Amino acid sequence: MKHPDAHSHHLEHTEVFKLLEVDPQQGLSDAQVASRREKHGLNQLTARGRRSEWVRFLMQFHAPLVYILLVATLVTAAMGEWVDAAVIFGVVLVNAIIGFFQESKAEKSIEALSRSVKTMAMVRRGGQKVEVASEELVPGDVVLLQSGDRVPADLRLTQVKDLQVDESMLTGESVPVAKQSKVVAQETILADRKNQGFAGSLVTYGQAEGVVWAIGDRTEMGRVATLIHEAVNLSTPLTRKIEEFSKVILVGILALAALAFAIGILRGNTAGEMFIAAVAIAVGAIPEGLPAAVTITLAVGVTRMARRRAIIRKLPAVETLGSTTVICSDKTGTLTENQMTVRQVFAGGLRYEITGTGFEPKGQIEREGAAADVHANVALADTLRAGLLCNDSQLRREGTRHMAQGDPTEVALIVAAAKAELSGETEKEQRPRLDVIPFESQHQFMATLHGVEAQKHRVIYKKGAVERILERCTTMLDASGNEQPLDADAIRKESDAMASGGLRVLGLARRHVEESHGELHHDHVKTGMTFLGLQGMIDPPREQARDAVAKCQQAGMLVKMITGDHVLTAKSIAQQLGLRGGDGAEEVVAVTGHDLKQCDDEQLADIAQRAAVFARVSPEEKFRLVKALQSRGHVVAMTGDGVNDAPALKQADIGIAMGITGTEVAKSAADMILTDDNFATIEAAVEEGRGVFDNLTKFILWTLPTNIAEASILIAAIFVGIALPALPVHLLWINMMTAIFLGTVLVLEPKEGDLMQRQPRDPKTPILTYPLFMRTGLVSLTILIGAFWLFYWELEVRGLPLNEARTIVVNVIVVTEMFYMLNCRSLTHSMWAIGVFSNKWVFVGIGCMVVAQLAFTYLPVMNKLFHTAPISGEAWLHILAVGVIAYSVVGFEKWVRFNRLKEKV
Ligand code: ADP
Ligand code: MG
Repeated sequence: MKHPDAHSHHLEHTEVFKLLEVDPQQGLSDAQVASRREKHGLNQLTARGRRSEWVRFLMQFHAPLVYILLVATLVTAAMGEWVDAAVIFGVVLVNAIIGFFQESKAEKSIEALSRSVKTMAMVRRGGQKVEVASEELVPGDVVLLQSGDRVPADLRLTQVKDLQVDESMLTGESVPVAKQSKVVAQETILADRKNQGFAGSLVTYGQAEGVVWAIGDRTEMGRVATLIHEAVNLSTPLTRKIEEFSKVILVGILALAALAFAIGILRGNTAGEMFIAAVAIAVGAIPEGLPAAVTITLAVGVTRMARRRAIIRKLPAVETLGSTTVICSDKTGTLTENQMTVRQVFAGGLRYEITGTGFEPKGQIEREGAAADVHANVALADTLRAGLLCNDSQLRREGTRHMAQGDPTEVALIVAAAKAELSGETEKEQRPRLDVIPFESQHQFMATLHGVEAQKHRVIYKKGAVERILERCTTMLDASGNEQPLDADAIRKESDAMASGGLRVLGLARRHVEESHGELHHDHVKTGMTFLGLQGMIDPPREQARDAVAKCQQAGMLVKMITGDHVLTAKSIAQQLGLRGGDGAEEVVAVTGHDLKQCDDEQLADIAQRAAVFARVSPEEKFRLVKALQSRGHVVAMTGDGVNDAPALKQADIGIAMGITGTEVAKSAADMILTDDNFATIEAAVEEGRGVFDNLTKFILWTLPTNIAEASILIAAIFVGIALPALPVHLLWINMMTAIFLGTVLVLEPKEGDLMQRQPRDPKTPILTYPLFMRTGLVSLTILIGAFWLFYWELEVRGLPLNEARTIVVNVIVVTEMFYMLNCRSLTHSMWAIGVFSNKWVFVGIGCMVVAQLAFTYLPVMNKLFHTAPISGEAWLHILAVGVIAYSVVGFEKWVRFNRLKEKV
């Protein structure tokens, strides 16, 4: 195979096929694919355009609180305190390294997860239509595109039907461009090469066939190196809040340090001493571990969600999920199994039942309990034939089993026809398909044009939503094959009866046209159709969905069903699932897209709140619904799978795409992808999201009192006029070591059992609510009193050396933190209630912490480096006493507040 020219837009189809050595009807053979794969490699882009590792590392130092530490390093160094300066700088460095690795790890895992959701492409190989991962395409592959697909490689388009493509990732132009297959002049610029499809662009409408010209880095997308890397953004509402908060702390810390400095000087201390004090206050007050803890917690959340089949594409979603108040879910395939089986048929004025379930064509057509002769009713036979032929799916026999490919709604129609012994092969031979208008949910129908063997006419078959079909029909077929005037009311009554039982109903129609009729357009199926019959199929609710809906409703969230299906079908399924309205009423309120269209924004918001079922809803109404719910303060999660769902998915606080049935367009607009398309997975993700936020709150609640206490102990000492109870290096030691050994434990805390019994967290409430704020004060005060009193007593009353007294202070703070950490494992319950052993990391963390403290206190090197000294057993008793007191105080506070007074966090 030769590639004499980099371009193909100016070549005739035949020439393109010849150059690529492929027969367009057959596609490549397996041997050709294998040899081309060898030569050209996989169809994927080499990652480029990433910020360099160095820049990313240096960015770790770009934070207000790190600036303070860097200044502290300089100040200490300037005063000749080299060891201290080195330790402070060492901490900054360690922090940056941890932050750097955590961030890279988080970015990589998010990226890997998004890549794990494979893009598929439909190709023709060896004469068969097969779906392959788009990485596996090779030059010469014949690709079939339809709306919703991502163009998998650079293609020369050879057949185009109303194709429109969004090329914004290449050109920045978001208006879709129309494509065609004709040759264009050689000098045509990229944007005007209408006969090419570019890798990475999205098909928004129509279909096409094209042949792969370039893959991987040789595509136009591959050439635009800078555009390749869609940077993972690690900032979330919470990290931004923390960033803002740290700017406030920065000012506060500087003011405090300056104040302490001034007071100290007035009280006769030297400037040198006061510099150290100011540095110590600054260093102590900064929660060094916080930024890393936030990244780690979010990353842990992403992994936990992935394990439960929810792939996070955008990190903020992890956080927002926990605050979700409304979940708007598709019906078909998400709340239901999407395992359709036709149960009832209505044709020629008669009702039939079909036996058997699943995709195995075992069962028969019955009328009033006895097997029916299908060919005795011409309308019935043609209804089943229409379902079989107006169909893009397949049912293949593989050994003894049958494999279905395509849309389950269509597979059900094939199975129904097979049960009536209509053979797909024979029918397709006798009535070869000439053209198609594929199903699009916005039109709610599909139509096909067929030649008819040995007849002078052709036939158009059409299937779709009953209303859409009936409005185009003027006649109907009776049992003996005669066309009668249409009795739409009678048919509608039949259809409603089926739908009320939860069946998904499709109407089928046909139209005879002249032999010269070669193409199919929307105009051809607008009028003069003949109604054939109805087919009603069951789609049972997913078993787990019922539980998940109940859990969500108990967790204070509203669940809404948004579907393109008929209102009665939807309502019946909603009742089976136990869906409730916004006012908690048991009665399911159902509205249709038609109703919504009549509403102004205010009315819409009311209905959106109250109703649980939204049927025959178009993508535009989905978008309006999201906005209406948001206008009532809701945090909205919305699922979608179609091309036109993208705006609603983007508008929603959490856009959720279906991993299996979703189009690439929907996936690229979503924040989260469900790899199993299952509603229960959304519920699981919300639960994990709540867990993430809960653990972050625990970490923050745990870390703040240390910082507050550390700063206040120093300020108190300056006020009282005694030696500083701790040096900057001591406080850095405490902050770093406890964050690593104790704080991490909280981040890894398993979810609490009552997580889904709480109300959703209002994103506007502060992280520290009133009770938690008060607790922070209480613990800070306990540490302050305990540590300051011990220091004063050991130093001034018992006359211990300063180094020893300071070592005691460090130990008392660490030990109190250790006890308090046990308390922080739950915001409201005691450690005994949530299970002492439920988080094994507690023991690992405490074990490491104890070893670290013993080293800090007794190892000569550490004594030298940190100006510490060994302490007595009696001192340890005092330290433990303070820890136990702190634990009891908080335990008592929790018990009173949440057990006796029944307050809420
Ligand atoms: P949902 O996925 O929310 O159930 P869809 O948009 O897929 O709804 O379908 C809307 C309506 O379009 C269905 O009620 C059905 O009548 C019709 N329909 C669905 N799938 C097909 C299809 N493959 N061909 C023709 N009509 C269809
Ligand atoms: Mg559907």
